Amino acid sequence: MKVPANFKSFVKCICIKCPSHDKCMKLKVQKIFCAKGKSSCSIEKKGCICNKCPLATEYNLQKLYYCITGAEE
Ligand code: SF4
Ligand code: SF4
Repeated sequence: MKVPANFKSFVKCICIKCPSHDKCMKLKVQKIFCAKGKSSCSIEKKGCICNKCPLATEYNLQKLYYCITGAEE
């Protein structure tokens, strides 16, 4: 299910606690990649915690690394 790219999702997203959420993404205030699509930063995979996110449960998300692969359809 498509995650809305709104303020409510922005607050719920736990990307900032993720080991792959780097300085570049923090500087650009990038998160909710499952809704907004992939990051413009070049990311090193250090794990993904999307499966622990409340939005993953709410919208039945099955994938990981949305910051690299892009938004959920
Ligand atoms: S999409 Fe996954 S890997 Fe990327 S920052 Fe968010 S939790 Fe981390
Ligand atoms: S599923 Fe991942 S990208 Fe989407 S809001 Fe949660 S932590 Fe962020």
